[in-house]
Amino acid sequence: MLDKVVIANRGEIALRILRACHALGIRTVAVHSTVDRNLKHVAMADESVCIGPAPSTDSYLNMAQLIAAAEVTDAQAIHPGYGFLSENADFAERVEESGFIFIGPKAETIRLMGDKVEAIRAMKDAGVPCVPGSGGPLGDDAETNIGIAREIGYPVIVKAAGGGGGRGMRVVHTEAHLANAIQTTKSEAKAAFGNDMVYMEKFLENPRHVEIQVLADGQGNAIHLGERDCSMQRRHQKVVEEAPAPGITAEQRAEIGRVCTEACIRIGYRGAGTFEFLYENGRFYFIEMNTRIQVEHPVTEMVTGIDLVREQLNIAAGHKLSLKQDDIVLEGHAIECRINAEDPDTFMPSPGLIAHFHAPGGPGVRVDSHIYEGYRVPPNYDSMIGKLIVHGPDRETAIARMRVALSEMVVDGIKTNIPLQQRILADVGFQQGGQNIHYLEKRLKEQKEKSLSIG
Ligand code: ADP
Repeated sequence: MLDKVVIANRGEIALRILRACHALGIRTVAVHSTVDRNLKHVAMADESVCIGPAPSTDSYLNMAQLIAAAEVTDAQAIHPGYGFLSENADFAERVEESGFIFIGPKAETIRLMGDKVEAIRAMKDAGVPCVPGSGGPLGDDAETNIGIAREIGYPVIVKAAGGGGGRGMRVVHTEAHLANAIQTTKSEAKAAFGNDMVYMEKFLENPRHVEIQVLADGQGNAIHLGERDCSMQRRHQKVVEEAPAPGITAEQRAEIGRVCTEACIRIGYRGAGTFEFLYENGRFYFIEMNTRIQVEHPVTEMVTGIDLVREQLNIAAGHKLSLKQDDIVLEGHAIECRINAEDPDTFMPSPGLIAHFHAPGGPGVRVDSHIYEGYRVPPNYDSMIGKLIVHGPDRETAIARMRVALSEMVVDGIKTNIPLQQRILADVGFQQGGQNIHYLEKRLKEQKEKSLSIG
């Protein structure tokens, strides 16, 4: 087993990784910026290293400092968590070149998946269903591009090969707008990602977001742990996630899961990963693969009973997967609400001192959060301050438990999105299940208009 791990992240995921390490008897090194001295996991880690000032470019994104932290503490491996450097192939490469284990896939796999054109090509070759599209980068010839769009059929979406975070894409409804849209997306992509390569896909109008969790050991073994539905989104940010996805049959799950695990074996995938799909009219369309642990991993843990971070650590230690596909049995239903320090109506971030905190509890309730009474949420990072996860024998019970848990949860001193989460859980459409990725924004807009007209 690994002996000592550097946790190259902050907040709830740093705490989550620390817990998995300690449960395996692995010692931990917390790295933190100057404003993050008071993070919960820093106090709980075996050692801690201050890696720089508050701005993430000077701390959590500073590769040299992170590697130095591993060197001075004589650690063996670095866990990147999510966000920050977790999907940076150069970082993974530098970590391994410096003699440490990167807890994630090989750098070349991260690089492959970071280039969406290449990723789609590789997935198509592996038999993964993809969105009908250009199948490669778009050139400069307007007639050729018009031909591609006609073949796909409007509306189409022009996307940056190096894009991420929901940026660098443009929907085109008619031929008259195509050339212009390609040019604009190209120059935006160049400015934002330093790469002006763009490609074209069919724009699916009302899809759901359904993703498949996989584990692979890089030694020829891979399994899937079923799917998550993450369709409740605002500005491409997931707000509520659940497992399993409403309406997906055991046969569909087995089939898409098999395709994903076969793709993992084919590309020599190592670690935990997620295949993201748009799901429309009963069909899956691959959009991208995330080569790291995801924020919403707990819902999968709750329905499978498997500790995904523990599995990541085992794989990084060089062990073969101890689990077989038949060991994966889904039980009941799990829901996760992301808890953000933000105004529930305007979505403005709301950092500051947490004057009072009360965590909910009871059967099937899990709180993954680093906050505590007296903790000050810094303004420098993502506004997520934790995740509330519930599990129940069925979806209805899970919803009921989540509603009680949300009503018990108290975070005073700052604003949080708990009132918004309560509205979502009380929404009849959400309760029906299976809504598409536009549903939440549509409902928010309706509510805003309603409150305006009443006010
Ligand atoms: P990013 O890496 O920026 O998150 P994705 O390729 O995952 O980019 O796309 C982000 C989001 O954009 C998707 O979750 C979906 O809402 C929308 N999107 C992307 N491609 C399509 C498509 N072909 N049709 C409809 N919506 C799309």
